[in-house]
Amino acid sequence: MTIDYNSHFEACIEGIKQEGRYRYFAAIERIVGNFPKANYYAPDGSVKEITIWCSNDYVGMGQHPKVIAAAKEALDSTGAGAGGTRNISGTTRYHVELEQSVADLHNKEAGLVFSSGYVANEGALSTLGKLLPDCVFISDEMNHASMIHGIKSSKQEKIIYRHNDMEHLEEILKSIDPKRPKIIAFESVYSMDGDIAPIKETCDLADKYNAMTYLDEVHAVGIYGPRGGGVAEERGLMERIDIIEGTFGKAYGCMGGFITGKRAVIDAIRSFASGFIFTTSLPPSVLAASRAAVEHLKTSQIERERMRRNVALFKGLLRDAGMPFMEGESHIVPLVVGEPNCCREVTDILMDDYDIYVQPINYPTVPRGTERLRLTATAAHSEEDIRHMAQVLQELWASHHLLSAVA
Ligand SMILES: *Cc1c(COP(=O)(O)O)cnc(C)c1O
Repeated sequence: MTIDYNSHFEACIEGIKQEGRYRYFAAIERIVGNFPKANYYAPDGSVKEITIWCSNDYVGMGQHPKVIAAAKEALDSTGAGAGGTRNISGTTRYHVELEQSVADLHNKEAGLVFSSGYVANEGALSTLGKLLPDCVFISDEMNHASMIHGIKSSKQEKIIYRHNDMEHLEEILKSIDPKRPKIIAFESVYSMDGDIAPIKETCDLADKYNAMTYLDEVHAVGIYGPRGGGVAEERGLMERIDIIEGTFGKAYGCMGGFITGKRAVIDAIRSFASGFIFTTSLPPSVLAASRAAVEHLKTSQIERERMRRNVALFKGLLRDAGMPFMEGESHIVPLVVGEPNCCREVTDILMDDYDIYVQPINYPTVPRGTERLRLTATAAHSEEDIRHMAQVLQELWASHHLLSAVA
């Protein structure tokens, strides 16, 4: 029998549709000067203005005049693309300057820029594993897909510890032959639960058992710490982390990923990571914009303060209303619905009836049964936006029959 490729793929899609976790992308057009407002291009061809409530552009740097001006200046002066891989004619002064900028951000000897945060995690972790014979990764169970992928492609042993569970982490470290190289891989802000890792305790254990520390600060760079260095900076722990990884795609409002650390380890990753070497380097406009955002947030506190004030207001309103959101220390507000079809129904109502855009978060991004709305009150939301959103959610939770069992 010959395989019918097309019906095979149709069946694959049908499967996830049945489970209620088929992904519908919402086509939007953000409006400079007016973010978090955007135009929504509906499947029926209509267009309307909506308010985004699920953006990672946490402080609105994507529309910051300095960031836009830096991108334009680079585009006008040097053109659209970098023209090559980093090794072969694709390293521009913009790459070098941005790498210095992130090394300085984390007070490290060196920095390295990748196409994205995903590629940075994949490239750095897989290379670390390959360069350390017989090493073991000890990985938090909630780590991002890019870290999981990097560790997997290193082909080294991986042991998973329960989320943020220091007793479990120690139990595992204790069980490993002290002579074997060990890398503890974890995140600071876990973006789906909105909680923050015990970074100091993790570093204490790393010291005790001579493990390297690899910290993903993707959801924290730009918005935690007095210079936007992340949670490790805020807690005075940066020098205890061997490698800090971040992105320009979230609070910095642009695109690209990076790692920082001691010169030797960064140079080793630069020299061996496939995902760094065999790809065209990022265009100057993106790098210039990213650098403008990083440098701006090293000194400006207004954006962080505004975001913090907005998040506190939003959480307070939800708390007063008895809404079942996950109380974490971070700026992210996850509101669990617990069932994929219901989760989608809620976000459809928000979009159709209230012009509010929230993407439903389903498996495999989060475990089944914990499907949720992941809400972000950014620095750019107005007090009115926030009060309105809290009111709408409260009404939906109270009135919608599908939700009464969950709330
Ligand atoms: C988004 C994300 C990444 C990937 O960063 P990109 O720059 O978007 O590729 C890595 N780690 C975590 C925890 C993330 O949430």
